[in-house]
Amino acid sequence: MSIAARKFLIGLILLLLAGAGIGWIYGHTDWGLLAAALLALIWQVRQLLSFERALRTGNFDDFRRGEGIWEQIFSRFRFERERAVRRKQNYRTLLREIRKSTNAMPDGAVTLDTNNEIVVCNRAAKELAGIKRKKDRGQRVDNILRDPELAKLLHSDDHTSTIEMMSPVRDGDWLNCRVVPYGANQKLLLLRDVTERMRLVKMRRDFVANASHELRSPLTVISGYLDALADDDNIPETWQKPVVQMRGQAARMRQILGELLELSRLESAGPAKLDQSVDVLGLLESTTQALEGHANVARIVIDASSAAKLQGNGAEIETVIVNLLSNAIRYTPADGEITVGWHSGADGADLIVADTGEGIESEHIQRLTERFFRVDKGRSRDDGGVGLGLAIVKHVLARHDAELIVSSEVGTGSKFRCHFPVDRVVVEAPMPLAGGS
Ligand code: ADP
Repeated sequence: MSIAARKFLIGLILLLLAGAGIGWIYGHTDWGLLAAALLALIWQVRQLLSFERALRTGNFDDFRRGEGIWEQIFSRFRFERERAVRRKQNYRTLLREIRKSTNAMPDGAVTLDTNNEIVVCNRAAKELAGIKRKKDRGQRVDNILRDPELAKLLHSDDHTSTIEMMSPVRDGDWLNCRVVPYGANQKLLLLRDVTERMRLVKMRRDFVANASHELRSPLTVISGYLDALADDDNIPETWQKPVVQMRGQAARMRQILGELLELSRLESAGPAKLDQSVDVLGLLESTTQALEGHANVARIVIDASSAAKLQGNGAEIETVIVNLLSNAIRYTPADGEITVGWHSGADGADLIVADTGEGIESEHIQRLTERFFRVDKGRSRDDGGVGLGLAIVKHVLARHDAELIVSSEVGTGSKFRCHFPVDRVVVEAPMPLAGGS
């Protein structure tokens, strides 16, 4: 117990004793005691009322004159109150500093709650994507930034992927978006201006497309003359072998240019013509028929459990099948076996090309879809490989929201699985019932 509390109790007891003593002198101890208790009560009530008034008005000056335990209560209260005010001011200053620094950031940052509703955002988010801190607070971010890829990213748990989208407020500008977990249940949407990078990518793409296009015409002329020369029996014998070699190399250059042009076309093509109902099983059968039966080609088996159609582009899906199947043929010995499959289920559909060929070392698998990547450059070149086939496959699959999953073991074989999401699989309408009125 503090000294003030002790003093307060002693004072109270002395007052009551004094009241009782005076009462006893006059023959009314109880009245004396009662009068002293009333006096103590009135004094306490007075202090309580002043305290209430001070709380209401915020003026605590009166309590500087307080006494005993009340003085202690008042000064403690004043101290705590002043500390709270100081702390609030510190927080306010800190908050202002944080806001200043986030506003100085060139990247947009938007804090979202579990429902993807905007909690707070910085100035760059307004400049890049038009999100306003006060006006858009509580709004769903996917109602403001309408992009299907962003909607997917917001609903997935993938915190490493990023997507590119056009800025809704700055014409021709591109934004890179990423979602990272933040706080207890919140997310942070990060927006970065990548217009310059996209411009460079486009420049590179256009350059490759233009160069390939421009090289095609002179190469056609050269190939034409080389074909004519190769068929001409009158050319000197010393030139016969070089001409055949030149013709072979010209054909290879035509193949490279053709595949480069195909890649550029896929990269710049929009979603047009991706709405055909593609008979994947039919394509597998016709491609297999065209490729099997040649000398040195392994046995090809079709293992399909589905006849489901795929919503996409028939020619592009055929390119995927031809590329995967010709790779499997190229890298599988004649006594091996190649299996092509088409299966569909609740989570989508799988187009599979598996072989019992030489296989691929695990360290190379990640890089297979890079342009011009070949595990064994010399060997692949001799076999007619360009190193663009799987890059084309990857692009076509990305255009169809699909992914390529490669598994392989050296000496055992490889499996290339193209997984299509369920909304790409066309559900055939049930046949109408016969009969009726
Ligand atoms: P290429 O025209 O050289 O075949 P691709 O892009 O189609 O180019 O393939 C890239 C590389 O992947 C190939 O050079 C080869 O090393 C490897 N590869 C592709 N498919 C297979 C397969 N079925 N078995 C073994 N290796 C393969």
